Amino acid sequence: MSQQPSTASAASALPGHPFVAYRGAELQIEDVRLSQLAAEHGTPLFVYSKASMLAALAAYQRGFAGRQAQICYAMKANSSLGVLQVFAVAGCGFDIVSGGELERVLAAGGDAAKIIFSGVGKTRAEMRQALQAGIGCFNVESEAELDVLSQVAEALGLRAPVSIRVNPNVDPKTHPYISTGLKDNKFGVAHEDTLRIYQHAASLKGLQVVGIDCHIGSQITDATPYLDAMDRVLDLVASIEASGIALAHIDFGGGLGINYNNDTPPAADALWAQLLRKLDERGYGQKKLMIEPGRSLVGNAGVCVTEVLYVKPGEHKNFCIIDAAMNDLPRPAMYQAFHAIVPVLAESTATPSTPEARYDVVGPICESGDWIGRDRALSVKAGDQLAVLSTGAYCMSMSSNYNTRGRAVELLVDGAKVHVIRERESAADQMRLERLVTL
Ligand SMILES: *Cc1c(COP(=O)(O)O)cnc(C)c1O
Repeated sequence: MSQQPSTASAASALPGHPFVAYRGAELQIEDVRLSQLAAEHGTPLFVYSKASMLAALAAYQRGFAGRQAQICYAMKANSSLGVLQVFAVAGCGFDIVSGGELERVLAAGGDAAKIIFSGVGKTRAEMRQALQAGIGCFNVESEAELDVLSQVAEALGLRAPVSIRVNPNVDPKTHPYISTGLKDNKFGVAHEDTLRIYQHAASLKGLQVVGIDCHIGSQITDATPYLDAMDRVLDLVASIEASGIALAHIDFGGGLGINYNNDTPPAADALWAQLLRKLDERGYGQKKLMIEPGRSLVGNAGVCVTEVLYVKPGEHKNFCIIDAAMNDLPRPAMYQAFHAIVPVLAESTATPSTPEARYDVVGPICESGDWIGRDRALSVKAGDQLAVLSTGAYCMSMSSNYNTRGRAVELLVDGAKVHVIRERESAADQMRLERLVTL
């Protein structure tokens, strides 16, 4: 059973957010009122529910019950140390994409042996760093990378454990910027080249072939592309093993979507029930499985609390100007993504003190692309607080200092307990590495 919110009744929980709910007029995360967090820590503010992260993880764990499986949290979704700690303590491995992410995992107490290293552009220095740390697997994305990794490992007197990322050429039907499993993407090696590249990998002295992997995209809300990708990967496993190269594990990547806006992705356990049925039918039920979920573990665990600075009526459009911006919440500007926006203090609908109107919700940054929500019905006035939902994934980790805006404070809520996991960034923090020169 997944954990239930301890105070808020499930009926009042927000769609997709089992641990965010109105209790009376007050929006709460677990047992904590968001208005209280905003009063204590200021805005903009990210808040994450620990129970929500663990419930999302538990759905995968239920799906894999009785199997040899390793869940590697794709930490680029949210790489804050306090978030990594929650997953490390829960026994997760990590999918990393840079040497910096490796250092974060180790700083958070993660197990190096459970790290897999993805990405098309690993540098020699990053390879050396990961080999010396003793990571579990390099997910290699090109033939050229295999050769370099083998050289780097040989020079250290080591053998690099490798898996090759194959491109199954299936359409995940998601945004083009987050679709990765089609032929024309930069990711993985082509299906038809895979066997030859495995044979090349097996011939290199600095490498030890341990697995195969794929990752077809992100925010996938349908099981079909996963089932198609599995078929194609298993075809490859058959031909690679027939050529005499054993594969100890199969890694099916991440990409499962979350509910942003009436999206209906399959639950992780239901999806895996279908996938495992196929795996069993095809005779691979005994193989060790790996997955790399990111968004689906943290996305709906987080909300961003922001304050309305100004309400600006216009001839054609009304603007609601908030203190969070595209530097904090980059997904709308980057992918035209939708985040639900709700009041922290619900108005009584019987006697609303502010009339409802339609607003473009925008930040203070000097860019027309700095919008957070378009054409939203809100009853707001300056000083009100709003919660931007589904902001646990690909928000803080993609945030920037554009306009010399300090990054927001991050809190981890655990029942009634509140932990500051990142302090608000000051201008001095931002200028720390810069130098004035003698002119
Ligand atoms: C980004 C990424 C993931 C995680 O994707 P989500 O959509 O966040 O689950 C997993 N594997 C690889 C290789 C990635 O690049």
